[in-house]
Amino acid sequence: MKVPIARTKLTEKEFNIIKKPLESGWLVQGPYTKKFEEKWNSFTGAKHSIAVTSCTTALHLSLFALGLKPKDEVILPAFTWIATANVVEHLNAKVVFCDIDLKTFNIDVTKIEDKITSRTKAIMPVHLFGLSVDMDPLLQIAKKYNLFVVEDAACGFGSKYKGRHVGTLGDTGCFSFHPRKAIATGEGGMITTNDDELAEKMRSMRDHGAAMSDFQRHHGAKPYLLAEHPYAGFNYRMTDIQASLGVTQMGRAADIVSERQELAKNYNKALKELDFFQLPYKNENFIHGYQSYPCVFDIHNSSLSKVNLINEKRNIFMDALQKEGVSTRPATHAVHMLKYYREKYQVSPEDFPNAFIANECSISFPLFNGLTNKEQRFVIKSIKKDI
Ligand SMILES: *Cc1c(COP(=O)(O)O)cnc(C)c1O
Repeated sequence: MKVPIARTKLTEKEFNIIKKPLESGWLVQGPYTKKFEEKWNSFTGAKHSIAVTSCTTALHLSLFALGLKPKDEVILPAFTWIATANVVEHLNAKVVFCDIDLKTFNIDVTKIEDKITSRTKAIMPVHLFGLSVDMDPLLQIAKKYNLFVVEDAACGFGSKYKGRHVGTLGDTGCFSFHPRKAIATGEGGMITTNDDELAEKMRSMRDHGAAMSDFQRHHGAKPYLLAEHPYAGFNYRMTDIQASLGVTQMGRAADIVSERQELAKNYNKALKELDFFQLPYKNENFIHGYQSYPCVFDIHNSSLSKVNLINEKRNIFMDALQKEGVSTRPATHAVHMLKYYREKYQVSPEDFPNAFIANECSISFPLFNGLTNKEQRFVIKSIKKDI
């Protein structure tokens, strides 16, 4: 048996709906994109949802629309997907890394205030792997220092903080529809915001800065006149082909979340007794969406002094599982340890010790919609055998 780390579950409904935009001839940012945005609003409780081409462009557009300038500083966790930091670089602003809390893999909110300078403009909390950041204290700091909050909610589908969906707590929230995420449209992203003016601006900026979308113009009174362009925008438009897939999956949104939570529960039950892995953090104020199932390997020994040894043991374990057909991955990477960032910012792994440990000692097991009980039992059996 072979169990991949992720596998996109597509149903008959997706195969059927994808023909609709093709048949209609309207392929880009049309009725399906609008419907996807409406469904996203009602699922997350956001006032505005704006579909774009990826979470990366969602993050970039958020910072651009908020007016981030060269040399401005943005605080973000050292352990996240590289895209969170890259968008800051794209605006010639400065990345300021903050260490994480190893228990949650999320930014250590108690360490943020020390990083604030007169140039700090924004904080980017990342709700990693579907677990919300502790947002109340973070928002308090943002308010105190007048900072923007751009939530990287790429993994945050179905994740809640004190009853509120992530992505609706900061100035903007950014989601991903890459196949590794719970809703998959191939490529794709969504920005949520409760700010009317900012929403209007981002809608325009995703579409070359046009004051009116092509769909509005073509269906308006004067389709022959081109739109005014108040901004120098981008082309970050989603296609209606992608959006049709999103619309269909949103039709079973609650099931997608509960299936993932059920799979996580099975792992929790089976792996707890081993007392070897740190399992995903659980707390009633933080509803986990389980984009993935991230653990720390040999948690009782995973410390800065033993990081090399545990990393070696983890890799041998991953290799054994791979040979048996079970795919695993490090949870994600520590961005400050990647060549571009370590060289540009002259940082060493130990500067952010928890991110360093997470980079070397984390391990994610297969969790995705459509993972069968038989497959999961095989994964668990293999883990127990190879540990
Ligand atoms: C997946 C991911 C991204 C990037 O999403 P794309 O849609 O591939 O651009 C950004 N941040 C985090 C935390 C992610 O997991």
